[in-house]
Amino acid sequence: MTSAPESATPTPALLIRDLSKSFGDTVAVREATFEVTRGEIVALLGPSGCGKSTTLRMIAGFERPDSGLVLVNGETAVGPDVWQPPERRRVGIVPQDFALFPHLSVAENIAFGLADGHHAWWTRPWRRLRHERPPARVAEMLELVGLRDFGERYPHELSGGEAQRVALARALAPEPAAVLLDEPFSNLDQNLRASLRLAMRRILKAADTAAVFVTHDREEALSLADRVAVMREGRIEQIGPPDDIYYRPETRFIGSFVGDANILPATSVRGGAETELGFVILVNPEEGDDGRSLDVLLRPEQLALKRAEANDAGAGRVINSEYYGHDQVVRVALPSGHRVETRLRTETVWHPDDPVHVIVLDDAVGFPR
Ligand code: ATP
Repeated sequence: MTSAPESATPTPALLIRDLSKSFGDTVAVREATFEVTRGEIVALLGPSGCGKSTTLRMIAGFERPDSGLVLVNGETAVGPDVWQPPERRRVGIVPQDFALFPHLSVAENIAFGLADGHHAWWTRPWRRLRHERPPARVAEMLELVGLRDFGERYPHELSGGEAQRVALARALAPEPAAVLLDEPFSNLDQNLRASLRLAMRRILKAADTAAVFVTHDREEALSLADRVAVMREGRIEQIGPPDDIYYRPETRFIGSFVGDANILPATSVRGGAETELGFVILVNPEEGDDGRSLDVLLRPEQLALKRAEANDAGAGRVINSEYYGHDQVVRVALPSGHRVETRLRTETVWHPDDPVHVIVLDDAVGFPR
């Protein structure tokens, strides 16, 4: 076999093109199109009912799309006259509840993914009597997920985080082209989630597989994924790296959905916009369109406060503040009555009614009104 020239674009692990699905009158997914390369983690993020799970289920093969293509490592899994059942697709699945088999040990659960018909190790009834060792791949997977000594345990002897890693090991064991994770952290303790996200990312990167996960939690999507696809009403509105989605949202909906947002009325001027906070540079200026009504978006951490004189008519007033230790959120009423939220360091403490000037630290995003 000759290897592809280096300049050639590698075949994506997953290629999803114009995937659509309706249930009766409800359009669940509209022409979803995206690719995932090997080693890449993509999040499907959106509010409840936007079509995330249906998209994932169509890739897995649990749902038949009305139209569109799914290619796994270049092989058509779904297309005109093609339908591969889930077990034929090289796709691993981590269900929301992990779905470990309670009567099988951790090693047996992981080996289940490797099962090659009735010759599989885990299906041989005498394996336990003879103390037959599980396949080497099982030990490799236990090592990968940091559970080397857990092979003999049973699912009820695992914490939620450990059960999640076993489910991930089981999905990765057959070396799938991609793994699909349905709300991977929703069944876990809130305090554990942040540390488990890092562990999950490390494992997926070490496995060098493509991964797609569904979430409605913006922090989860932004911190775990290499690219985030934001869905709304069945459509992918934007797909891009987390900082693009956060600082350069293409729609107002995305801007407000992926983070706290101040939306201020503005008028476009050359290279930027005029707002109540003064001139702001826009990351997305439109040439030759001066005088247009805009809304501009600024994140709370893109603003700062400066103390003003008590009798300064142009100053805003602090409404309230919340102190978090590492930072604080301070809300300010501008002279117009418009309110903005700022996220600040904590060396200065602000009190209600303090007169303040709000300073813009960064470029803003403009949306035509
Ligand atoms: P959630 O975060 O609440 O799980 P979601 O973004 O995953 O939501 P989907 O579960 O994909 O959304 O649902 C998309 C739309 O399709 C919703 O309006 C839902 O009610 C509808 N839907 C999903 N599955 C079915 C089904 N089997 N029969 C009828 N309608 C369905």
